[in-house]
Amino acid sequence: MKAIVITHAHIDHIGGAQKLKAATGAPVYMNARDQELYDHLDVQASWLGMKTPEQTEIDVDAREGERIALGAAEFQILETPGHTQGSISVLIPAENKLIAGDTLFLDSIGRTDLPGGDSRQILRSIRDKLLPLDDEIVVIPGHGPKTTIGRERERNPFLRGL
Ligand SMILES: [Zn+2]
Repeated sequence: MKAIVITHAHIDHIGGAQKLKAATGAPVYMNARDQELYDHLDVQASWLGMKTPEQTEIDVDAREGERIALGAAEFQILETPGHTQGSISVLIPAENKLIAGDTLFLDSIGRTDLPGGDSRQILRSIRDKLLPLDDEIVVIPGHGPKTTIGRERERNPFLRGL
């Protein structure tokens, strides 16, 4: 089985979904709270001065607790709103990995100054959903280098006092 999992509806994370779906036929997972952002991809494209990519149907609402079996691994959806309202992270327990979208980065967190962003909400999401994970979980952010939950819990300046 294959699946296309969208962490959030910013154009740099979803612009290729239609082509990927056409090529693979895999179902597309996205949290429904980002549907409005996705429906206005033309606005995001105009900010960046780029052509609006073709849109695809979202097949499955990626909600908290949703599990996707891919090969031997299970992907678990965590709702981590704040960067956008529909931002999700994907935990792969069998591989000790977390795909964090634009929620958590090495020494940083996702920006919250774009439409749908909420600076208190992203910190709540990280505190309640990501920091309780094991130290050795490898975090694969949407941009920049990999890190671990333990490192970010200890050293990320944005998470001090959480
Ligand atoms: Zn983003």
